[in-house]
Amino acid sequence: MSDANDQKAGGAPFEGNERDRACSPHQGRRFRSATVRGLVAAAVFAVVAVGLALPTGTGTLSSMGWDAIAAVCPLGALESLFGAWAFVPRALIALAAIVLIVVIAGKAFCSWVCPIPHVQSLFKTKRRAREEAVERNVAADAALGRWRRGEKPARPKVAVDSRHAVLGGALLSTAVFGFPVFCLVCPVGLTFAAFILLWRFVQFNEPTWGLLAFPAIIVLEVAVLRKWCGRICPLGALLSLVSTFNRRFRPTVDSKACLRDAEGVGCKACAQACPELIDPYADLGNRPMTECVKCRSCADACPTRAITLPFRAARRAETGGSLASGASGESFGRAGERRDEAHNGRSTGGVRSGCSECAETGDESRSGAIDK
Ligand code: SF4
Ligand code: SF4
Repeated sequence: MSDANDQKAGGAPFEGNERDRACSPHQGRRFRSATVRGLVAAAVFAVVAVGLALPTGTGTLSSMGWDAIAAVCPLGALESLFGAWAFVPRALIALAAIVLIVVIAGKAFCSWVCPIPHVQSLFKTKRRAREEAVERNVAADAALGRWRRGEKPARPKVAVDSRHAVLGGALLSTAVFGFPVFCLVCPVGLTFAAFILLWRFVQFNEPTWGLLAFPAIIVLEVAVLRKWCGRICPLGALLSLVSTFNRRFRPTVDSKACLRDAEGVGCKACAQACPELIDPYADLGNRPMTECVKCRSCADACPTRAITLPFRAARRAETGGSLASGASGESFGRAGERRDEAHNGRSTGGVRSGCSECAETGDESRSGAIDK
């Protein structure tokens, strides 16, 4: 095992061959997905903002589209049904359409479209980033330990948590008061509301209290309540419920390339990179695969580029593998045996050696990615 104290501090560098094995010819591209995600979210925000400013009647992320053909926020649609205590065809149709999208794309909205993670990153301190790296590292260690003990992967299930309680509260309050109460504090809606007020202030010189109040509420929610996405967001809770049925674009590991499968090495780079504390290798992480936001951080972090997010995952044979493989506990045991054999005489494998970038950049998210 790597030095526990170093790992808790999130600062242990790779040493010798272990460090070199975590480097790949693709390492310089590991931030590519984060960049693309940022560009996509910015493009969506720009389209919505231009639509609001002109105005084109295309709506916001809460209700985007034209006239009756609008993709209403699923939470907003549910709240409409609860608030009206009546059959609302448009809300039901919008809800069905969103459910279909989530069944196909899972929680991709959270990492590719929602502006809140990007707003949060504006307020993220180095200390906070270090704390998150340590949290991911501890979760990755736990997942690796479960793999070593030959535990079975978590079955598709929903991790019911505080977000679901907030979701229940949002629907209950809507039913009681007759209007979508949560929408008043939803950071996604408030982000666009603040933009509208700012635009009107610039264009028509119309100052309102909302110009200060809306950004203040957003900052309170995403900066002070730093765990908004993981512990509070009822929209994320709703998406995770529907995501139980998602089988597409799931992280899938190529056994021939994976260091655990091919060489029996205790690699945890993919789990260590996951912001949702999932173990993409075998779904043995602290949170289940239903929470996957399709961010591709695991694919970027894998030293051998063994992870893809295909539309349709191929089954893996005899691996310690991913949920898509339907791997059995027995196969996990065999993978563990291969690992133990390999620990007695590791090969250098197909990973580029001689790179010292990890130590030079002090990249904490990758430190201790390969357990000794
Ligand atoms: S499993 Fe991979 S794609 Fe899914 S949330 Fe974690 S890092 Fe992102
Ligand atoms: S899939 Fe995960 S465990 Fe396998 S080599 Fe890549 S990062 Fe390591």
